[in-house]
Amino acid sequence: MIWIKTSDLISLLREKGKKVTPQRLAICQEVFSRDDHPSVEQIYLNLKNKYPTISLATIYKTLQLLKEKGYLQEVGTSNGSVRYDPNRNLHVNLVCTKCGEITDVIPKTLPQMWSVLTSDLGIEPQSQLLNIYYTCKKCGKIGIIPNV
Ligand SMILES: [Zn+2]
Ligand SMILES: [Zn+2]
Repeated sequence: MIWIKTSDLISLLREKGKKVTPQRLAICQEVFSRDDHPSVEQIYLNLKNKYPTISLATIYKTLQLLKEKGYLQEVGTSNGSVRYDPNRNLHVNLVCTKCGEITDVIPKTLPQMWSVLTSDLGIEPQSQLLNIYYTCKKCGKIGIIPNV
């Protein structure tokens, strides 16, 4: 769960010339409260009952504002759907290429590997996006007939 102050969201919307509406704030709260890297469609499905007039376009545009501000990153998946990640800390996204599930992991060696890598490169990274594509346990089991 990532906490962004509502006042920061309001000033971002104003700064971009957008009206501050309950819908736009709900979109922001929804994406920051989820750790499953939701897509535009998944956010739409969760909000459409409470906000029947909400549109995919509003959700997409609001997420783009958050992305431009550096609050979110886009994580591509193997089937081309775009998913949004509010976790800006150093971590690896494990992306299942079958079901599209994305899980955040922080391997114990990651911080050390990261500092070796960036000092070898001689750079100060501003952000990072590390995706590892694999088949998750649930999907790996499909089609295996247990020996009885
Ligand atoms: Zn899977
Ligand atoms: Zn992530």
